[in-house]
Amino acid sequence: MKFAVKAWSKSGRARVGSLQLGSCPHLSIEIETPALLLTTRKGLPVFISPDLLPSLPSPDSHLLQFSPLHLYAEFFMLYLSESSFAMGFACSMEGLSTKTISNIGGLHQMLGLQEYGFAAVPRDSIVCLPEHESSNKMGASFETPSGRRLIKPVEYMEMISSMKPNLYATLADEVPAWVSEKRNKASVDRTVRWLDDCLKLSTTGGAVFGSIVGGSSVEERERCAQEVARRNVSGYWIGGFGLGESMDKRSAILNAVMDNLPEEKPRQICGLGLPEEVLQGIAAGIDLFDSTYIYHLTLGGFALTFPLDRIQSSSDSQLSDKGSDNTKINLKATVYRKDTSPVVDSCNCYTCLNHTKAYINHLLNVHEMLAQILLEMYVFALIHNTHHYLAFFSSIREAIRDGKFEQFRQKFIDSRRDHLFVT
Ligand SMILES: [Zn+2]
Repeated sequence: MKFAVKAWSKSGRARVGSLQLGSCPHLSIEIETPALLLTTRKGLPVFISPDLLPSLPSPDSHLLQFSPLHLYAEFFMLYLSESSFAMGFACSMEGLSTKTISNIGGLHQMLGLQEYGFAAVPRDSIVCLPEHESSNKMGASFETPSGRRLIKPVEYMEMISSMKPNLYATLADEVPAWVSEKRNKASVDRTVRWLDDCLKLSTTGGAVFGSIVGGSSVEERERCAQEVARRNVSGYWIGGFGLGESMDKRSAILNAVMDNLPEEKPRQICGLGLPEEVLQGIAAGIDLFDSTYIYHLTLGGFALTFPLDRIQSSSDSQLSDKGSDNTKINLKATVYRKDTSPVVDSCNCYTCLNHTKAYINHLLNVHEMLAQILLEMYVFALIHNTHHYLAFFSSIREAIRDGKFEQFRQKFIDSRRDHLFVT
């Protein structure tokens, strides 16, 4: 993996970078940062089948995030009832051990996605949530659909070694903002110790991202960042956000971490997903985000509609639509029942090129009859939302390069505030 910062914002923290991932000599994936990693289950973006993956912007959509716990043998039957895509996939995968995945050659080979980059993180915010009360000095506990699982560094690294991701975050003991000082300190000590364990056990060529925790304590965040920065890692994964800290306090915590990390290495974060949170993270110097937000948005029947260039235009959006909160619309709203326009007029995603709001609204409103139809709606909505959010990241990169990131961010926040004030 190679990473280089190409441009800085005027304030000096937000940056545009180039992340190069190459698993073999003839293949190199170059992704511009700040970038969005597509959240997956077992390596495939949720709801989007492999044949529709190429409809997403390339190479922006070529960075996939997964949790190795998704592929943990005991988990395979869990997704059977969730979707027909997952059903076919899960049946074919049932019972695969880490050894078999290793024999196949890893995740790229197994899924036939050689031209995609895989980033492994121990948890996601969809099916593998950290469960701090059950974590102990031996390992981190996760709440999963099959119950609670304690994962030790040795087990985690066995999964990583078999799946061969391009990059992976080390095991972390994430805690929410409200835990005691003592518990928070223990989480930093464990996370640093597990980082050393993971480095010792590493047999894969993937880039190691050292995990940083510390809850809402500026001192613990600094201590953890300093300890991790001393280790031989290629980048950083910052956990413990979106776990009860206030948005006001977040900037100080983020800065405490960033001030102690070398500029030349990439920083990935978990737990910041809303557009305002993404802008806050980028302003602090974060390079990589996950797409959990658009997954949840899609499940709720929402589609993103905010204008992508906040500096030059704000009148060409669909802000007056009913069911809109100035960034998104609710496709279930009856106002769309006869609306024959696409979700966003100027959008060139697969969904907007082929379908109308009225059709998606129809799919949503007959969902109680046919699960398959509801799934189809999720596919269409998620394709649009992914496309739109990737374009949002592209606009942010452009704003940084043009020296206008601060105005871009301010304009976005102001328009949201104006709308909330009016309503
Ligand atoms: Zn679209």
